[in-house]
Amino acid sequence: MSLPIYLIGARGCGKTTVGQALSEALGYTFRDTDHHLQSTTQRSVAQIVASEGWERFRQRETDALHAVTAPGSVIATGGGMVLAENNRRYMREQGQVIWLSAPPDVLAERLQQQPEAAQRPTLTGRPIAEEMGDILRERAPLYRQAAHHEVSAMQPPAQVVEQIMHWLLRARAS
Ligand code: ADP
Ligand code: MG
Repeated sequence: MSLPIYLIGARGCGKTTVGQALSEALGYTFRDTDHHLQSTTQRSVAQIVASEGWERFRQRETDALHAVTAPGSVIATGGGMVLAENNRRYMREQGQVIWLSAPPDVLAERLQQQPEAAQRPTLTGRPIAEEMGDILRERAPLYRQAAHHEVSAMQPPAQVVEQIMHWLLRARAS
């Protein structure tokens, strides 16, 4: 049995970075719902949101989640994937869900250092650190609810991967 592994958490928590390393360590395929969306629509997230709005984007995001779900995959999900109750339930039922958690100031700092940060519109147009605080207040309960396990994203990626591997071994033995 090689259930899909879903990585959830806010932008910047390391879902893509950790997901790629974890998939290599497990010999799994790496999938990323944002990348899937971009390659199937040939548009960036920002372009989809600008032309179709957030609601349609969220629907496309759910479709992407279903499309990439397969055994033997590590799946990095969009930061807002947990907003929909049906996405949370789907991930919990289909696989093992891991939340990479970190405080808002750390996430904002990481995003500010990323050139592609501009690709994704902020939700409000306010400074990213401020906005990240609000987003986490709203979403932390949803990440917690969706996750089978929480791992601190405040350690180097290799260590995050190691902790996840450790938890998987125990979870799969029980
Ligand atoms: P996500 O996919 O969750 O948005 P990324 O994997 O793209 O996050 O990482 C966002 C940025 O933070 C990247 O520049 C990445 O190199 C950096 N990063 C990711 N994980 C860590 C970590 N555990 N410690 C330090 N920096 C990290
Ligand atoms: Mg990512």
